[in-house]
Amino acid sequence: MTETETEKDLPRILIYEELCKGCDICAVFCPTEVLELKGNMMTVKNLEACTRCQLCDLRCPDFAIQVF
Ligand code: SF4
Ligand code: SF4
Repeated sequence: MTETETEKDLPRILIYEELCKGCDICAVFCPTEVLELKGNMMTVKNLEACTRCQLCDLRCPDFAIQVF
């Protein structure tokens, strides 16, 4: 597998800064510890560990995170 293909296979996690209130729910539900709260903003700590399970997306009460 080439490097380009590896990068293409990684999930994309979008966090909408204007919607995220830093409640930490998405990080708590993420089974593989991909997400990390920094101040009042959710961030992606370990994208490689994301399984695209969508739990973060489904649990976020503010529709502030999406996984593709
Ligand atoms: S659940 Fe939603 S609002 Fe809460 S920290 Fe995660 S992305 Fe932000
Ligand atoms: S899709 Fe699943 S594995 Fe990926 S960040 Fe969200 S909860 Fe974690």
